[in-house]
Amino acid sequence: MLNIVLFGPPGAGKGTQAEKLLKKYELIHLSTGDILRGEICAETPLGIEAKKSMDKGELVADEVVIAMMEAKIDANKEAKGFIFDGFPRTTAQAEALGEMLHEKGTNITCMLALFVDDDELIKRLLLRGKDSGRADDQDQSVIENRISVYNKETAPVIDFYDTQNKYISIDGVGSIDEIFARLCVAIDQLI
Ligand code: AMP
Repeated sequence: MLNIVLFGPPGAGKGTQAEKLLKKYELIHLSTGDILRGEICAETPLGIEAKKSMDKGELVADEVVIAMMEAKIDANKEAKGFIFDGFPRTTAQAEALGEMLHEKGTNITCMLALFVDDDELIKRLLLRGKDSGRADDQDQSVIENRISVYNKETAPVIDFYDTQNKYISIDGVGSIDEIFARLCVAIDQLI
């Protein structure tokens, strides 16, 4: 299986690139943010609880997202592989993902980490907020909190995959097609 952790701060372009990658490599795209927003729309207890953290730009509890992702992986037994987008966001999530995949006889192939500077991220997110209608993209202080949560809680996940020699950094600035080409070069060296 080809299992990719597509990593980067909010606004790095993970969702956009995941859409292109899943078509080219025939993978299942699992975005925790999209799944959580679906739960909010459906007004499930999980969604109602998660919304409180999401509106502030804070992380949803590890046990909630881990259980949610395990269910999604189990529901896609025939998958050729997965693109994990926005997950794992903590070292505890990365460990849990490793165990889940190990039990299913597979593992993470690589972490592709998109790098974009903070000023560019804020610009992109405010622009996205105008179209997406996402509350967490419309408020500059919530955006800044998400970036700070990324730096404190999520960036350490890089070390987790680096020690396993699975970490690949990708320049996330440029046109969508340029960045996609960089990601494909990295993946094609591994398959
Ligand atoms: P995203 O769409 O990936 O930017 O995620 C939007 C929000 O959903 C984040 O700011 C978090 O509140 C929540 N979220 C998404 N993925 C995770 C995760 N792996 N762990 C905890 N919270 C998450």
